[in-house]
Amino acid sequence: MRLAITTQAVHADGSVCTHPTAPTGKPRDPATCTGRRGYVAACSGSPDCTWTGERRGMRTLADDDRKAHRDHHAQAPAPATA
Ligand SMILES: [Zn+2]
Ligand SMILES: [Zn+2]
Repeated sequence: MRLAITTQAVHADGSVCTHPTAPTGKPRDPATCTGRRGYVAACSGSPDCTWTGERRGMRTLADDDRKAHRDHHAQAPAPATA
């Protein structure tokens, strides 16, 4: 299975924001989106891994978490999938 670790924008309450945003970062539709308050890296590459990073104020920091977690998988022994 392909490893999928993504960086997601989140709202103030921690829910994932998939709303469209303007280039300024502000939500295009404030009625449906409270605005992005941070970024979280999350792993969905394995059913055994539900890792989620801490909420970061900047996308680059969440990306660092994502890379660190990818390294974690790279170092771990191959899981038995039999
Ligand atoms: Zn949103
Ligand atoms: Zn993982």
